[in-house]
Amino acid sequence: MTQKVALITGSTSGIGLGIAREMARAGYAISFNGLEADGAETAAKVGKEFGVKTYFSPANLLHPAEIETYIGETEKNLGSVDVLINNAGIQFVAAVEDFPVEKWNAIIDLNLTAAFHTTRLLVRGMKERKWGRIINIASAHGLTASEFKSAYVAAKHGIVGFSKVVALEGAPFGVTCNAICPGYVETPLVKNQIKDQAKTHGISEAEVIQKVMLVKQPVKQFVKVEDIGAICVFLCSDAGNLITGTALPIDGGWNAQ
Ligand code: NAD
Repeated sequence: MTQKVALITGSTSGIGLGIAREMARAGYAISFNGLEADGAETAAKVGKEFGVKTYFSPANLLHPAEIETYIGETEKNLGSVDVLINNAGIQFVAAVEDFPVEKWNAIIDLNLTAAFHTTRLLVRGMKERKWGRIINIASAHGLTASEFKSAYVAAKHGIVGFSKVVALEGAPFGVTCNAICPGYVETPLVKNQIKDQAKTHGISEAEVIQKVMLVKQPVKQFVKVEDIGAICVFLCSDAGNLITGTALPIDGGWNAQ
């Protein structure tokens, strides 16, 4: 059986790597991407562990031309892409009036616009082949807001809306598109936020974890990257055929409030 191919952006760290590992465990060939210096080694290691083909690209997704090259190289090395998981994302925390314009632009460009580019380049082939899965890693902040995160909340609400449109357009062709909306997951991105928020609020990092972060997450524990990976595998299975256009919270009850 030929391996289905999953292209996962920002997959050499954190949630993306967790998803890549679960998709590889399920037998998908993985096209890795990320800015980590050891990205190629990470990809090779996962490929070896699960016996699947891998490709790695250090493409900077802030540049549409690099996205195009990344997709072309993936198709050349692994074949047509069946599953697209838009995961790469960055965060910056500041009050609106102090928000650096270049940070706003970068967050919108990576967290929202890069997903438009990967989707526009891959969805045509999925439609032609009458099967495809697009999963956008949004956030609990795709459904609700927190102060000091204007660009991130705007981009994540945007990607939830974008996912719905792609779902409608893909529906006649067997192409589903969903957004996953995790609460706090303990990854390098969150560790940096803990430091930033400690500065913004003038409190210790331990206090940020209990009083700022998990205060909104009723289960009082971080989400695991493996759990997000398992949901992706499920959405790519036959059981996910009719699940499309959703924004699925994995947030320990945050959005139930
Ligand atoms: P992370 O920092 O561990 O990983 C981000 C990945 O994106 C890395 O591989 C990084 O190299 C890559 N990346 C960053 N800028 C890039 C660029 N310009 N071009 C290509 N790749 C780039 O972060 P994470 O916590 O794993 O976050 C992954 C996704 O999950 C993000 O979209 C984030 O918004 C979302 N998310 C995270 C949490 C959380 O609590 N960690 C919660 C909800 C949603």
